[in-house]
Amino acid sequence: MATSKKQTPMMAQYLSIKAEHPNSLLFFRLGDFYELFMQDAIDAAKILDITLTKRGKSDDAIPMAGVPHHAAENYIARLVKSGKNVVICEQVGEVTGKGPVKRAVSRIITPGTISDDHLLQQQESVYIASIYQHKKQYGIAWAECASGQFYVCQCSNEASMLALLEQISPKEVILHEQSSILNYSSIQTSRPKWEFGLERCYQVLTEHFQTKDLNAFGADALTVGLQAAGSLLQYLRYTQNTQLVHIKSLVHHHPSEHLMLDASTIKHLALTQNAEGGRSHTLFNTLNYCETPMGQRLLERWILQPLRDFDQIQARYQTVSHFMHIGLAEKLLPTLQKVGDIERIAARIGLLTARPQDLLGLMHTLSLIPSIKQLLAKIPGHVVSELINALEDATDEIHIIQQAISEQTASIIRDGGVLRDGYNEALDDLRQLSKDRNQFLVNLEKQEQESTGLSTLRVSYNKIHGYFIEVSQTQAKSVPSHYKAKQILKNVHRYTIEELLRYEQDISTAKIRSIELEKKLYTELLVNLQCSISKFQKISQSIAVLDNLLSFSVIATLRQYKQPILLKDSGIEIHSGKHPVLAEILQDSFVANHTNLSHAQRTHVITGPNMGGKSTYMRQVALLVIMAHIGSYLPCEHAKIGPIDKIFSRIGSGDDLASGRSTFMVEMSEMAYILNNATQQSLVLIDEIGRGTSTFDGLSLAQSCCLYLAQNIQNLTLFSTHFFEITLLAQNNPCIYNVHLTAAEHEQDLVFLYQLQPGAAKKSYGLWVAKLAGIPSDVITDAKLVLQSLESKKPTNTSKPQQLAILDQVNLSKTSPKQALQLLFQLKQCGLDLLVDE
Ligand code: ADP
Repeated sequence: MATSKKQTPMMAQYLSIKAEHPNSLLFFRLGDFYELFMQDAIDAAKILDITLTKRGKSDDAIPMAGVPHHAAENYIARLVKSGKNVVICEQVGEVTGKGPVKRAVSRIITPGTISDDHLLQQQESVYIASIYQHKKQYGIAWAECASGQFYVCQCSNEASMLALLEQISPKEVILHEQSSILNYSSIQTSRPKWEFGLERCYQVLTEHFQTKDLNAFGADALTVGLQAAGSLLQYLRYTQNTQLVHIKSLVHHHPSEHLMLDASTIKHLALTQNAEGGRSHTLFNTLNYCETPMGQRLLERWILQPLRDFDQIQARYQTVSHFMHIGLAEKLLPTLQKVGDIERIAARIGLLTARPQDLLGLMHTLSLIPSIKQLLAKIPGHVVSELINALEDATDEIHIIQQAISEQTASIIRDGGVLRDGYNEALDDLRQLSKDRNQFLVNLEKQEQESTGLSTLRVSYNKIHGYFIEVSQTQAKSVPSHYKAKQILKNVHRYTIEELLRYEQDISTAKIRSIELEKKLYTELLVNLQCSISKFQKISQSIAVLDNLLSFSVIATLRQYKQPILLKDSGIEIHSGKHPVLAEILQDSFVANHTNLSHAQRTHVITGPNMGGKSTYMRQVALLVIMAHIGSYLPCEHAKIGPIDKIFSRIGSGDDLASGRSTFMVEMSEMAYILNNATQQSLVLIDEIGRGTSTFDGLSLAQSCCLYLAQNIQNLTLFSTHFFEITLLAQNNPCIYNVHLTAAEHEQDLVFLYQLQPGAAKKSYGLWVAKLAGIPSDVITDAKLVLQSLESKKPTNTSKPQQLAILDQVNLSKTSPKQALQLLFQLKQCGLDLLVDE
């Protein structure tokens, strides 16, 4: 590449700007194009599938690729989506002819800081987080550039920081340059260590909020949290190149106020994303009857951060109940359907990037407020009165926008035509000057035809040559001497005169001045509206909450969901519960089941055939607990839910190829995390643990884990297993209770009944399921023979007393894993069946 040779002044300018952004793609403005050079060009051409060309002569040519500036948004969106940062470098000076035009970086677009409408999904929040660690303390701050939300939190260990990070799921995480604390897969950006200094961060934050301290946010006593928040704010300012006036407050997040969901739970319950990363068949999709974009984004936050405070949850239930009672949805939905994404519009006003259509959308939404308030007016409860209070009157803002912009306005400010006639006198005058153009040309043509007597004389204009007087070639010799030749073509000669030159100058300056003035006035309009950003944010938040509670009322009515009862005592009692997502798909063929977990019977060991519905049932219980904690009604006859602090799950897994861990290692790491972090108030789901190692290893580990949860942690557990041996634990541990999912043999077929019954399953039906899965019949026939032979080696007449006599020798609950292993060996060697008939 030609970098070592002497560069043209423009390339030297490019290289000096590029040196400041080595890890980003630099979009370098050249006339109507953004050009990329060298490795940037090669990378972008590959991702965007655009032509890679060369700049310069063949031996020192530089790879180059470009995109038209008016279509750049699309290309930028694709690059950012693929994880790249894009630096936009604009021409900021006049073209003087001497040296390259001055250029400067106007914005840096990174995956975590996008705010433009076309780069964002309506339903998805895009967070960026910053993490700062000091000893065992972790500060974590996160923000959304597109809305102005800004949160801070301190965690006292890595596990809770990672769990929180999973709930936020930021698109980008910033860390200081010497830091490598994260075992997290999103894009990580290094920033200089000094940006994380406590004193500096405190100053940056207080200056931004224009406060003496951070008491108003309940964050003054934080340390690492403020270092994370301050560094994040600095990074946002650096990328956005503005003051971020839309970031109005810092919310101190307290993890203990929310139900903690670990990474595995979020993933395996398909709360907001399915295994392919889509929305279908997720709890989010099932509950999403929201009409507004901000309502949908809030629903995602509610699902990932359910409440724990029963009073707050109860208040949501009551509001939903009132909404159902008066049939509010029918009256309010048509209005909500017209609401625009004012949360993001407010942010774009803050960033000075709001477009005319944004302002019209904002105006229309604000004008709906009185009718929304009227419909809410008579509904009791503090939730609704808070919603009404936040829906502040916005007549002034409506008026400001209405005066400035009309419905027929141009969609972008670049070429003018946005502000209404009559909005500004100076602008009107400049526009009038341009409009008079046609009349002037007609008059001049007439005047010159008369004075010269030339019949072919025309006054005309084209984009390249501007204004000219055109005369046919034959009449050209008769033009007056003050006509200055401009262009000689085959059939016509073109001239200009002093009057035309002056007018041309006036017109083009008038046009430029009119656009310049219009841009200035438009920015002033945005700055003026910035004073109301807090109001817009409150209105948006209020509409989002209203939208969600209304959506809960719609689903509850539609599907006959029931309001749960919240209890002080530990336990989960659900009568005729259904998996909310699967029940929607299977409709009447979904089999409802009861759940009765209590402190006294806190560990349910679930057996049953493969495909019998075990995982579905366990997921169902967790999903209903989550739904109950966000204020939704439940798909059941009735439900009572006690306090829960965290939900853990260990459901299915594969090799973690990225970190080189085997299935068994992944399984054990997840199990270790649960055993170290679950409390008595936690709900734990364990599906099939101990399958990735030898049978006895797996069995002894599964049994010990089950007992540890039941006896030491004493939390609520659903433990599904194929080790029938584990069902024996119930004998000596009253807190362990066996249930099984039923199946029946019908002629040659196995029929899954999906009914949860007390007691352990008697058969695992492995061969039946294999047959259903399409294993060739020869293999199945052979396997049956092997099975018969294995079973025939067992004493067929082992009586119940005999089995119990052996089991009586030990108390399984007091047996160490090693002793249990030895006992199992003994029993297996005797060929004894370990299942105890109920
Ligand atoms: P297991 O965990 O026992 O192998 P799953 O829970 O994965 O079984 O269930 C297998 C399939 O059975 C599900 O995908 C679903 O189609 C069906 N199923 C599960 N539970 C029910 C139910 N309660 N009612 C109807 N169909 C069910």
